[in-house]
Amino acid sequence: MIKILLATNNAGKLNEMAQIVKEEGFDKRIKLITPRDLGMDLEVDETGSTFFDNAYLKAKAFADQSGLPTIADDSGLVIDALDGKPGIYSARWGRDDEERINKVLTALKDVPSDQRQAAFVAVMVFYHPQTLTTIKTVGRMEGMIAKEPTGQNGFGYDPIMFVPSLNKTVAQLTPAQKNKLSHRGQALRQLLPILQAGLGKPDL
Ligand code: IMP
Repeated sequence: MIKILLATNNAGKLNEMAQIVKEEGFDKRIKLITPRDLGMDLEVDETGSTFFDNAYLKAKAFADQSGLPTIADDSGLVIDALDGKPGIYSARWGRDDEERINKVLTALKDVPSDQRQAAFVAVMVFYHPQTLTTIKTVGRMEGMIAKEPTGQNGFGYDPIMFVPSLNKTVAQLTPAQKNKLSHRGQALRQLLPILQAGLGKPDL
C-alpha cells in the first residue's frame, strides 16, 4: 500500500477523487491521505500562468512539506466567448459560488444559446519528493453555459454547466454520473494506471 497525499482542502474535490480511486479498484494499492489527516495547514499561492504551473506548485509544496508523494490538480471553467476566462482564475472570480456564477451569467447576457460553449479543464500532477518523478494528465468536460442555475449537486459552477447530451446541468447529475464524465475523473483515471505500473519500481 502506497500513501499518496491529495493536495487540496476542497471537500468537493476530495470526495470526488476518493470515490474514483475506489471505483477503479485502486483503493487496495493506494491510500489517499488528506492534508487534514496530517494536521497540515498549507496555503499555496497560485502564482502560475497555466493550470499545469499551479498544479505543479501545489503538488511540490505539499510533497516537500509532508515527505509524501502527492497529487494536486488545478482546474477551472474555460468559456469560449470570454476568451477562455475565468480559466485559472475560476476560484478567485468572485467571493463565493453565487457571485462567481452571477458574474459569468452577466458577462454572457448578450451571448446567444448556440455560442455559449465552455469546458471544465483539470490538469493533474503527481510529484514524488524523493525521486522528483513528475507526471501530468489532463481532462476536459465539454458543455454550454446555461442562462440560469439549475440543480443542487456538485459544487462551484456546476449549476450553470449544461451538458447537451444529457439535457442536464452538472449540478443535476448524481455524484457517480459526474465522476464518469468529469474533467477531474478523466485526469485521475489516466494517472492511476501510470502510478500502478510504476509503484514499487525504484524510479517512482
Ligand atoms: P482550484 O482549486 O484552483 O483548482 O479551483 C478550481 C475552481 O474551478 C473551483 O473553485 C471552481 O470554481 C471551479 N471548478 C473546478 N472544477 C469544478 C467542477 O467540477 N465543478 C464546478 N466548478 C469547478
